[in-house]
Amino acid sequence: MTRKYEETKAASGEILRMVVPAMAGHNAACHPISYTVWYEYFSGRNPRLRAELDPRLQRGEILEEGDIAQLFERHLTGPHETTVRRLCEELRQLAGEISASARQAGAEAGEYAQSLDAAGQRLETLGEHPELEPLIRELLEGAARMRRSVGTLEDRLAASGRQINELREALAQAQNEALIDPLTGLVNRRGFDSALHDLIESPRTGEAGTCLLMVDIDHFKRINDAHGHLVGDKVIRAVAQVLKNGVKGRDTVARYGGEEFSVLLPATPLAGACALAEQLRVTVERGRIRRADNGEAVASVTISIGVTALHAGEPFEEFVQRADAALYASKQNGRNRVTARPFGASSAAVA
Ligand code: GH3
Ligand code: MG
Ligand code: MG
Repeated sequence: MTRKYEETKAASGEILRMVVPAMAGHNAACHPISYTVWYEYFSGRNPRLRAELDPRLQRGEILEEGDIAQLFERHLTGPHETTVRRLCEELRQLAGEISASARQAGAEAGEYAQSLDAAGQRLETLGEHPELEPLIRELLEGAARMRRSVGTLEDRLAASGRQINELREALAQAQNEALIDPLTGLVNRRGFDSALHDLIESPRTGEAGTCLLMVDIDHFKRINDAHGHLVGDKVIRAVAQVLKNGVKGRDTVARYGGEEFSVLLPATPLAGACALAEQLRVTVERGRIRRADNGEAVASVTISIGVTALHAGEPFEEFVQRADAALYASKQNGRNRVTARPFGASSAAVA
């Protein structure tokens, strides 16, 4: 999995200053795997890693080589990838078991065929003799043995089939989870790209007015700095909830990156998308988020939004870039505002 790091040189330098003492204070060597684990931890981009590591660090645990390797495997190689690899291995084992069962049944069937042959030969020489009775019994016993063996094979195949189905479902779920952001439950960047791709490629394309909002929390770094990452996470979840509640039907809300979201609005004219964006902005501005520990309100959580409409036939990168440019204009013009940028025009403030 390719990871995307978007910190500026200055921001990554700040993280580096935290990473170095952390690597020095633990027992794993200072190799790229250690560096990546600590970089991800301090950049705040990996909430699951932090959720595992924070309590361990608070307990004063010193991390060894194996701990770092495990953290890397669990939180940085992408859990779904590990799961998919494990599931594929289990499917491979099952396929092996099934063919072994089939081979065994084949051998038993062969023995049975031999015993039938031998019995057949004896029948020919016996004619009308009463010895036929034990011979028939032998044949019946052979047939019963064969039925038992086939029955066992069938049971095993049925059990293996059920297991394979369960594994397939787990695989599908793992693939699905790979598109979901665990912090907010929204689709992640990959999920968004796939929704956008489906929309643009679908036969309904050309559908009037697909619009896109790019949303970014203002001065989020300050919120983290003032209240800590856990409160920061709560703010991200709260904004995600406002966005989710604000849209309907076929609209897609995604967590595009750290504190950035995208909202895809099929069949929506630009004016409608701007009105919705303004409503979302006001809802976030008016909302109050309280710290769980002391009930203190987190001051001034606001969002900036860029809005654009899809131009028929344009590549989706350009569509996203235009919404991004509109978002950038909102930031430049003082934040907590909505800016629209129609195709081929410069940005205009909405409110
Ligand atoms: P601007 O108004 O220009 O958007 O300023 P900003 O501070 O919001 O933007 P900047 O991109 O400088 O900082 C974003 C910060 O968000 C940096 C990063 O540490 C933090 N962040 C990213 N993902 C998460 C997360 O999942 N949880 C928390 N708590 N913080 C995160
Ligand atoms: Mg921001
Ligand atoms: Mg940002």
